Amino acid sequence: LMHLTRKLIEIRSMLLGIDQSDALKLPSIVVIGSQSSGKSSLLEAIVGHEFLPKGNNMVTRRPIELTLVYTPAKADGKSPEEYGEFPTLGLGKITNFAQIQQTLTDLNLAVPSSEAVSNDAIDLRIYSPNVPDLTLIDLPGYVQISSMDQPETLKEKIASLCERYIREPNIILAVCAADVDLANSPALRASRKVDPLGLRTIGVITKMDLVPPEQGATILAGNRYPLHLGYVGVVTKSAGNNFSSQSAGTVAKRSENDYFGNHRDYFGASSSLMVGTDTLRRRLMEVLESSMASSLHGITNAVQLELEEATYQFKVQYNDRRITAESYIAETVDTLKSRFKDFTTQFRKPQVREKLKMMLDEKVMDVLEQLYWLDKRMPELGALAADSKVKPQDVEAYWWHKLEAASSLLTKSGVGRDSTLLVADGLRGLIDSIVSGDPFTHHPRAAERIVQFSHVILRERIGVTSDQVENCIKPFKYEVDVDEREWEQGRERAVELFQTEVAMCESKLKEIRKKVGGGRRLRSLLGYVQGLEEQAKERRNRRLAREEDVQEVSEPESYRYPPGQILDARHAMLYSDRLSILKLRLAALKSRRCKAGPESDVLCPEVFLNVVADKLAHTSTMFINIELLDHFFDQLPRGIDSRLIYDLDRKEVEEFARENPVVKHHLDLQERKDKLEEVMKQLNSLSTLRTDTQPAPRRQ
Ligand code: GDP
Repeated sequence: LMHLTRKLIEIRSMLLGIDQSDALKLPSIVVIGSQSSGKSSLLEAIVGHEFLPKGNNMVTRRPIELTLVYTPAKADGKSPEEYGEFPTLGLGKITNFAQIQQTLTDLNLAVPSSEAVSNDAIDLRIYSPNVPDLTLIDLPGYVQISSMDQPETLKEKIASLCERYIREPNIILAVCAADVDLANSPALRASRKVDPLGLRTIGVITKMDLVPPEQGATILAGNRYPLHLGYVGVVTKSAGNNFSSQSAGTVAKRSENDYFGNHRDYFGASSSLMVGTDTLRRRLMEVLESSMASSLHGITNAVQLELEEATYQFKVQYNDRRITAESYIAETVDTLKSRFKDFTTQFRKPQVREKLKMMLDEKVMDVLEQLYWLDKRMPELGALAADSKVKPQDVEAYWWHKLEAASSLLTKSGVGRDSTLLVADGLRGLIDSIVSGDPFTHHPRAAERIVQFSHVILRERIGVTSDQVENCIKPFKYEVDVDEREWEQGRERAVELFQTEVAMCESKLKEIRKKVGGGRRLRSLLGYVQGLEEQAKERRNRRLAREEDVQEVSEPESYRYPPGQILDARHAMLYSDRLSILKLRLAALKSRRCKAGPESDVLCPEVFLNVVADKLAHTSTMFINIELLDHFFDQLPRGIDSRLIYDLDRKEVEEFARENPVVKHHLDLQERKDKLEEVMKQLNSLSTLRTDTQPAPRRQ
């Protein structure tokens, strides 16, 4: 039967790891008693070591799940080491009991004083050849009188904490001091509420040495408050002797033996009273064993039911598909990489070149605007182009200079930096979009790490790349060779761009027309604004002529049209000016002159600049590809491997997987099923041991 209890204690803690529902609980012994009733001394006497927190202030603030594990003597006859363990803290074996005491004190003091007591139990196991296999739960002592630093709510908190633990199937160890009237024992009172017949309550009367032996014997006889499992009297502390931790057991035991030995008349074998810590231990073992044994059937059924349910759910919800946190991470990484790979197609050379060309087209338009469109002499250039007798070499130096300036403005506009940043931005966007999708919504920290890592790679490469690109486009700053085919492509592209620009201006004009209330209205507005401008010009001229200050007359425009509309009209004027230039140039671009080929460059600067832009895009792409993209696409997947997988320890892997609620649910159910299976296996192996399930013999 010894073996049975031991096994069941193991099973009990496995069950605690499955869930906390009452259905799946094996009994434990719950120790309750008021403060100073001698509860700690009693537990220490049972264990044979001083290990519980001491202090005037209430020191037990959390329940302690104390599991005692009997370790038999070794084959060589040597006594095995005694040690404690906090399984959830991972501190390993602790052989120094003072250290156990310190750890318990620290854990208790970590409960904020606002909370006072916590429901969160501390798991402590003690392995020793001197302890029986037992599970005991030490609870905070009942507070008798509330004081300033122990508010009323504390009293209730402790009471309700104890109430939860003394429920079935647990055994109640009600600790009462002999020198306090049993009628005043909060432990007995609490026990009577849940176990009125005392079927699962053992009374322990401490401090027997403090009352006359006849009085002690009367208490133990238990006639006043009968308990089925009886009372045991103990002396767990030699009066006035402050024992050291080493001899705690022995000194107390000696004084206990002395005491009961000296009063054999009252407590001798013939009295049939139960006295002494050893008797108590035996009694506890018996009671726990028999309670465990009688719970066995019920718990087996309950576990069986839970297991069936979990198995069914696992089948229905997951079709029995097993996963692990590791497999989930591997899958996540695969998803990430394949998504990454899909996206890299957006960064092949043609795609990058296309993007860069678009950026450079913008630059070309800016250059054209700056140098050509705002030039009052533009119509001349159109006329030159239209005149078939004009040879390019006859064109005025003015236009040659302009062409050179435009080309240089374009090539020196920071193409290396701008194009590198453009691609880098694209890559950042790519990473952001990859990690913002499922399942990374559940893993914000991992997503952040990947993003950070990608930024690091980019930061390292951007400088090098943009310098390299800038170097390689240097030749175009001095000379650009254009062949017929390039010219024609450039011309077509320029026509396209101009058409787009024309369409844009037209739509803007249309918008304004609609806004001010139609074409007629806009025309009259325009007329008015033009009039204003002429007046203003005249005034300016007059002022210049007279070289004196003329008092600026406030413009009367606000009287006829609202200022917003005046502004619209000014914009409309700009757009229509722009339109007429664009249309002129579009005609030129389509003319025979521009179609003729590269020799017309001075007359068709748009085509020339377009070809230059195309060459810049081409060269930039080549070097960005080598210096930035190749590195990025090579390093990022490796970084993902090392940062997502190899960097995590087992616990982090588990945490990562459980960040995803779907995976968490899957893992939880699977784990529950596995644990239940294991418990079931253990329970089944016990059936061979179940020889006797009769309750333990009772006191006569
Ligand atoms: P707890 O508050 O219920 O844990 O009680 P303790 O174990 O700390 O004991 C309270 C006080 O009672 C301490 O001063 C102990 O020394 C004393 N005490 C405990 N057991 C005995 C005993 O058997 N005899 C005597 N005389 N004093 C005891």
